[in-house]
Amino acid sequence: MPSCSVCSTDTTRKCPKCLEKGIDAYFCEPCFKANWATHKLSTLLTLCQPKEHNPFPFHTYTGKLRPVYPLSPKREVLPTIAKPDYAETGDPISERKLRNSSQIDVLTPEEILGVRKACIIGREVLEEAKTAVKVGVTTDEIDRVVHEACMARNAYPSPLNYYNFPKSCCTSVNEVICHGIPDRYVLQDGDILNIDISVFHGGYHADLNETVYVGNVDASGRKLVETTREALQKAIEFVKPGMLYRDIGEVIQKIADREGLSVVRTYCGHGIGKYFHCSPSIPHYAKNKAVGVMKPGHIFTIEPMISEGTWKDEQWPDRWTAVTADGKRSAQFEETLLVTEDGVEILTRF
Ligand SMILES: [Zn+2]
Ligand SMILES: [Zn+2]
Repeated sequence: MPSCSVCSTDTTRKCPKCLEKGIDAYFCEPCFKANWATHKLSTLLTLCQPKEHNPFPFHTYTGKLRPVYPLSPKREVLPTIAKPDYAETGDPISERKLRNSSQIDVLTPEEILGVRKACIIGREVLEEAKTAVKVGVTTDEIDRVVHEACMARNAYPSPLNYYNFPKSCCTSVNEVICHGIPDRYVLQDGDILNIDISVFHGGYHADLNETVYVGNVDASGRKLVETTREALQKAIEFVKPGMLYRDIGEVIQKIADREGLSVVRTYCGHGIGKYFHCSPSIPHYAKNKAVGVMKPGHIFTIEPMISEGTWKDEQWPDRWTAVTADGKRSAQFEETLLVTEDGVEILTRF
């Protein structure tokens, strides 16, 4: 199939304006829309810089980081691996049907066993990805390692084609809060990097992430990362039957406040199992209005994102990458959790 001249994902769509000018170029839907307003110049830039370029040169970035395109071609999934419903179409139709339901599933022992297996694989994949992190390595190379590690374990990398996400994991550097797309960015000494891994195996999803140090990170960067790690740990210790989902945010906010850091509000923890994202929704900030009481058999993630400056976020024109509004750094940790009869089990634990 022909590929997008900006990001190189498969597409058959041609730009009518380019065709008028005699430029025979393909553009995928998101790149087409994102570049439409500044069409003429960005098309020229794209054609003039086929190797490495910023696909949104007119965007006002909040920090120093830039996307580095073209993305590598879409990675193939072995035909023997079971795929979620969105793998071909990009549309997670089964979970989308449940989007407005606040009902929290109590999983059966058989279903719990299924998620448990997926979580063990997810942890193995994250540990393998972490060994690839070095100064000079691209985030796309981390994605390659993640994809291969999934294939080796008969698992589908859940992010791949989920609402058309182009890669097999999320890599979020420095001011990127979450949902960073692995690209040709070369990791620099002093960066902090979050790797978010989700896998689909045996009909169940698992989800976990960690922020790691690239080379030597300054003291304030280390404080940010260690505080976020502690916030997740303390939030997990709070989990047991009868507790309210809305109170998890109190635990996390208190720790962030203590260190003069802020809690991101746009992105939440979520139920997980048969679906990648489902009820409950778990905000990480205090005084939230989340619904639900924890019960044995609930499976969900907690994944606080904590920032050095403002809690406010914005999105790059790729419609995925979430960055801090002030360009300061943000860190995150995530585990998939099971509420047990008397407490909690970390299904994705090391
Ligand atoms: Zn995740
Ligand atoms: Zn998650």
